[in-house]
Amino acid sequence: MKLVLATSNKGKVREIKALFEEMEVIPYGEIIEEFEIVEDGDTFKENALIKARAVFKALDDDSVVVISDDSGISVDVLDGAPGIYSARYAGLDATDKDNLYKLLDAIKEKGALSSPAHYTAAIAIVTKDSESCVHGWMHGTAMSYVSGEGGFGYDPMFVPLGLDKTLGMLDDATKRKLSHRSKGLSLAKIILQTLKEEAPQI
Ligand code: IMP
Repeated sequence: MKLVLATSNKGKVREIKALFEEMEVIPYGEIIEEFEIVEDGDTFKENALIKARAVFKALDDDSVVVISDDSGISVDVLDGAPGIYSARYAGLDATDKDNLYKLLDAIKEKGALSSPAHYTAAIAIVTKDSESCVHGWMHGTAMSYVSGEGGFGYDPMFVPLGLDKTLGMLDDATKRKLSHRSKGLSLAKIILQTLKEEAPQI
């Protein structure tokens, strides 16, 4: 089964490859030229499906299985922002750092030092015959300071529930045990298993 990732986000590619180490996963940019995908859905699920469908269509190969991740952080004190707009919170060409500092400022502007928050990951799987989508969540606290260099995106300001360190201070293996992406991908693995053409073990 050729599993193609509909993402060029290096942080996501690294995490997904580590979680799917028993399978060969290829970022679509290694097969065809990367192209802009307009994520105009209203939910993580819609945007994950938009990405996976667009890459499946562009690859023009009925044998591939395309997997996508649409994810983001929702902060309670900001009424759930940035949510599905996490990648473009500080503007269309914003870097991860721009987005991170905009979120810190937004929390401080509310007069808060921190806020309950959660990450969501919607994982879509598109094949010639089927479309599916599963989710994973990670709850915790969005801080108004940055600590640590690990992870990516908003990780240096997010402390997972029950821990006292930001994801930026934790190693990749620890994040893998907790993360929204890991939880979504473990459900996706079950779907992928059903797509394999194998003789049943009776
Ligand atoms: P997407 O690529 O359109 O799904 O955008 C995802 C956005 O959410 C990017 O800004 C990421 O930096 C952020 N994000 C998603 N998952 C994580 C994570 O695990 N850690 C940190 N930031 C994340």
